[in-house]
Amino acid sequence: MSKFIFITGGVVSSLGKGLASAALGALLQARGYKVRLRKLDPYLNVDPGTMSPYQHGEVYVTDDGAETDLDLGHYERFTGVPAKRSDNVTTGQLYMDVLARERRGDYLGATIQVIPHVTDAIKTFVKSDLLDEDFVLCEIGGTVGDIESLPFLEAIRQLGNELGREKSLFVHLTLVPFIASAGELKTKPTQHSVKELQSVGIQPDILLCRSEVDIPEEQRRKIALFCNIRPDAVIAALDVKSIYNVPLSYHAEGFDNEVCRHFGLLEHFPEPDLSVWRQISQTVAKPEGSVKVAIVGKYTSLLDSYKSLAEALTHGGIANNIKVEVNWIDAEIFEKDNTIHHLNGVNGILVPGGFGERGAEGKIAAVKFARERNIPYLGICFGMQMAVIESARNLSGILEAGSTEFGECNEPVVGLLTEWKKGEITEERGEKSALGGTMRLGAYECDLTKGSRVREIYGRDRINERHRHRYEVNIDYKDRLEAAGLIFSGMSPDRKLPEIVEIPDHPWFVAVQFHPELKSKPFDPHPLFRHFVNAAVDQSRLV
Ligand code: GLN
Repeated sequence: MSKFIFITGGVVSSLGKGLASAALGALLQARGYKVRLRKLDPYLNVDPGTMSPYQHGEVYVTDDGAETDLDLGHYERFTGVPAKRSDNVTTGQLYMDVLARERRGDYLGATIQVIPHVTDAIKTFVKSDLLDEDFVLCEIGGTVGDIESLPFLEAIRQLGNELGREKSLFVHLTLVPFIASAGELKTKPTQHSVKELQSVGIQPDILLCRSEVDIPEEQRRKIALFCNIRPDAVIAALDVKSIYNVPLSYHAEGFDNEVCRHFGLLEHFPEPDLSVWRQISQTVAKPEGSVKVAIVGKYTSLLDSYKSLAEALTHGGIANNIKVEVNWIDAEIFEKDNTIHHLNGVNGILVPGGFGERGAEGKIAAVKFARERNIPYLGICFGMQMAVIESARNLSGILEAGSTEFGECNEPVVGLLTEWKKGEITEERGEKSALGGTMRLGAYECDLTKGSRVREIYGRDRINERHRHRYEVNIDYKDRLEAAGLIFSGMSPDRKLPEIVEIPDHPWFVAVQFHPELKSKPFDPHPLFRHFVNAAVDQSRLV
């Protein structure tokens, strides 16, 4: 049976609990264990799919079509284990399920309560859909002390009891701030946070303390004394230059050792194999040069909205021994006169996924610049749709080309996706369909045209990539666009949905309807990002 590691956070949010969980997963893997990571989110939305990117950051999509928390992206990037729908749940989802059961009469006669009905649903979720995993790492969203997270804390407290110490472990992530005026590290916030956790019946086994500077022995002892744990179980989680240094840093501080010690596993696996992480860290630390890539998007004020994208570009850089410097540019600036010069000097332009009309014309202007100036272009989802509109207007002369996402349109080069095949099932949507979880979501196959650039990049005829969109490029315009030089080089297997377009007569112009960034990993950079960055390197040599 799997061992369960519960990861909570205290003091403040944004300490990087997701990253901490992912890095611990990677360390356990490096010792030969099979891991699974999951996240419990305390908010009431059924999933983050309907939230604004400004609220929530990126929505991470799994192969099986779930819209999930961005931490699942960290989990996948650090462990390579594909995340599933069963790896993320929200309070909203749990209540929806409990209430549906109540209506069906499953609890007939009972008063439905948070304890035991909701807590039972949480416990069932945590233990569900597991195979032969050695460790299940379960992150609790939010910060200890929030009202919303109480049922989750109660559920994991119960689980800890039921599983016993030999099958469960509680890790608590806190902050040990450095107060410059006093020249001291302060342990009080950590003490308070642990007290809060103890008040709901959870005694942490390991404290992971975020800190700018090393935590001296004396402070460690103090934390240990007040928080009721051994000094060795106070682990410093020091600030590092790259997130890909985190596994190495944690290991140096003894985190994975302490976890294995708790479970009595140290004798069997003396040292993890961290060669992959050493290699990645070295490449990130000492690149041979740099390229500039402009990301022309709309949620650029909250970079969490583009988490996987930023990481995938870093991976593309790793593959080329290059540092990718990203210029985040708000597309709307290109809707004003004389602003396109902001793109001067960039070696690549990327228009990412997006929703709604705001900024669309600015994105189209950026695509035009990339196409006309021979600058490598990668369009993702919305970035493909805008590229097609740009070619339709400026290459095929379809001046009114637009997307029905922005309202009625005389030349709907991009239109609402009303019917598509998911395996044997036909999915249907209309103007009035509900918005939650109804996009074309998850992994779909795509056939690549022989002789195309993407066929060469992937080295395969058929690929499988993740989607999240409601609109699609209108196949009716294919012939006119191809005649003008925009080739449809990737199609759904039934040949109905355009998945990739490219311009052969351009140094590197590829736009895809799916989200390749979701599958990229530092130890396995996605081919599109590898080649896009490579094209940017070539471009940089020209200037
Ligand atoms: N808004 C577009 C659609 O729904 C693109 C979505 C996206 O970029 N993820 O089709």
